Amino acid sequence: MSELVEREHQYYMQVARRQPVVIVKGEGSWVWDEAGEEYLDFHAGWAVDTLGHCPPVLVDAIRQQAGLLFQTSNQFYTVPQIELAELLVENSCLDRVFLCNSGAEANEGAFKLARKYGRLHRSGAYEIISTDNAFHGRTITTAAAGGNPQYSATFAPLTPGFSHVPWDDIEALKSATNAKTCAIVLEPVQGEAGVNCPSPSYLGEVRQWCDEQGILLILDEVQTGIGRLGALFGYQLFDIEPDVLTLAKGLGGGVPIGAFLCKEQYQVLEPGDHGSTFGGNPLACAGAYAVVKHVIENDISGYAGELGEYLAAGLLKIQARHETVIKEVRGMGLMRAVEFHEAIGPDVVGGCNEERLLVNPVRPNSIRFTPPLNASRSEVDIALERFERGLERVTRVK
Ligand code: PLP
Repeated sequence: MSELVEREHQYYMQVARRQPVVIVKGEGSWVWDEAGEEYLDFHAGWAVDTLGHCPPVLVDAIRQQAGLLFQTSNQFYTVPQIELAELLVENSCLDRVFLCNSGAEANEGAFKLARKYGRLHRSGAYEIISTDNAFHGRTITTAAAGGNPQYSATFAPLTPGFSHVPWDDIEALKSATNAKTCAIVLEPVQGEAGVNCPSPSYLGEVRQWCDEQGILLILDEVQTGIGRLGALFGYQLFDIEPDVLTLAKGLGGGVPIGAFLCKEQYQVLEPGDHGSTFGGNPLACAGAYAVVKHVIENDISGYAGELGEYLAAGLLKIQARHETVIKEVRGMGLMRAVEFHEAIGPDVVGGCNEERLLVNPVRPNSIRFTPPLNASRSEVDIALERFERGLERVTRVK
């Protein structure tokens, strides 16, 4: 164990299942550990590093803003906040933004907005329907919204007012809706659950149901937003528009930031209803603005969609060679999972570490690839070779 890891064990709360790699530097799709070993990073900070590590456009924006202004509270107007809000609104179907610091915080804000909407326009309705295995964050309320008791049961009592139905089951959603329901919250593609794509008609049917019932559709695009699925926003690929949208992760490309957005008619929050000390600070906003502008101007989303097909084709070839080990390859864009017949996900991630490829053990029986959206085809080729060798390290010893 390296001296740095020992110090971490001594001082840090042991809540993360870390890989035994101390990352000290990154550039593009590559990172280096403390010993100078080079790794290909197809994990990208849990699907955050939109343009890879330290992209010049982000570094320049942060450098410039750092010399101007880091933080002033929301008691004042700031230029980067206004510019980012405008960019997000002008390029989405939503009309209003609130900027915060993380995905969980973005969802908290969206839930507050939905509850206030229910109070004002649906006779006090406050319940929000979510799906089994959904992931919406780690606060008490977002853990209550999530559909995995592993992340919430220990911390009961949770925030009341959330119910759960099976994913991708429109009839279950309909049966769970009642007079107290104010909103439905969904990830367009479930991320932490192991990259579960909906059947083609599901999100359209949910949209129609919300319209019929007068309840809000909140899409949690914390993971899928900003190009990851092959469009700037995931909802565009399903031909629907959400009433409320949440973003974080890829929005800042490595800078911590979150956002919730809504259509004008659902903007019910008033001065005093919501706030944040750091939310929308100039430094984070300048970084996010540079990232999102670059993604839009260079159609990084379209490129990510094509590269995702290329990655998936390579993974399917590996599956064909390892049919007894790999059960399924699934996903969209640059959010792809490989599911194994057995719970060897963590072992395969270990094998990939040895091969100098970083991936994410998303479930005991599956791993996830979420590379930077601007990775190259040759980097995908290297990742595929290293993944297969990492997998063989595990299957050889079994
Ligand atoms: N929502 C989704 C879909 C996520 O994948 C995540 C994190 O993985 C979150 C919310 C929580 O985001 P954060 O960790 O920034 O609070």
